[in-house]
Amino acid sequence: MIKSYEKAGKIISETREEAIKLIEDGLPIIDLVNFVEYKIIEKGGFPAFPCNVSINEITAHYTSPPGDENIINAGDLVKLDLGAHVNGYIADSAVSVLVNGYQELGEKNYSEELGEKNLKMIEASKEGLANAISTIRAGVELEKIGSVVEQTIKDYGFLPVANLTGHSMDQWILHSGLSVPSISEKNGHKLEEGDVLAIEPFATDGIGYVTDMAHSHIFRFLRDKPLRVMHAQKVLNHIKKEYNILPFAQRWLLDVFDENRLTSSMRMLVKSRIVYPYHVLREKSGSWVSQAEHTVIVESDGCQIITE
Ligand code: MN
Ligand code: MN
Repeated sequence: MIKSYEKAGKIISETREEAIKLIEDGLPIIDLVNFVEYKIIEKGGFPAFPCNVSINEITAHYTSPPGDENIINAGDLVKLDLGAHVNGYIADSAVSVLVNGYQELGEKNYSEELGEKNLKMIEASKEGLANAISTIRAGVELEKIGSVVEQTIKDYGFLPVANLTGHSMDQWILHSGLSVPSISEKNGHKLEEGDVLAIEPFATDGIGYVTDMAHSHIFRFLRDKPLRVMHAQKVLNHIKKEYNILPFAQRWLLDVFDENRLTSSMRMLVKSRIVYPYHVLREKSGSWVSQAEHTVIVESDGCQIITE
């Protein structure tokens, strides 16, 4: 089990570092997500969820829909969030990158001052993560982690995103029950040796809350229900066989199903609440957001960071 976690962690840290080097002005988002997902497979794992590329005020859960034409622009604050599993054991990590060239963008209304602020915001979530990790060991209460993250991010002059949390993980389960807060709140639950946690603070200069947008490009199987439409049943069978209860992208199903029929089947599966849609999340006031994330395994006197 530990070996599988370590392998998934190594796949994610290598892929993350290779992907960071590709991020530049003009890069199509779909090229970045394809690169990450293919690399994970090439290195002997499977994507534990679609690669997320959430830009500026888009905070989480964006992945390319089929035929995505969006590109990354100079000055963008890109949050790259990627996960791999080996035998269902998951490693989850995220990093924020300010895309090169922001200093030369005076004519596009992008000042050096703004660039500095965004770099500082990236530091704030990174430092929040580092300080959270340094407090983790068996017996520590979840509220301790939340207050350390909040204090660190506030010291940088930003706010943590209150309604996004880290999470415990288990085999095949991305969110297995525990939520790891990024704000100070009453939570006396004590960590135990062997707990696997994704710690993921977000920092913003906005109001510190995210809200759902209308669209969803990431889904997961929720529960079985009788279906009368043959095609929707076929799509569902494929989803269960390939992804179990882990999140997947509609784009992944295009090798197997015709796009138009897939779209109508997916709509039906979501409407019947057989499949859960992850809505794209946006900072409520439209302000930009940074994120940092690692997966750790709790030990008696500290923790092992598997995605470092
Ligand atoms: Mn993540
Ligand atoms: Mn996560």
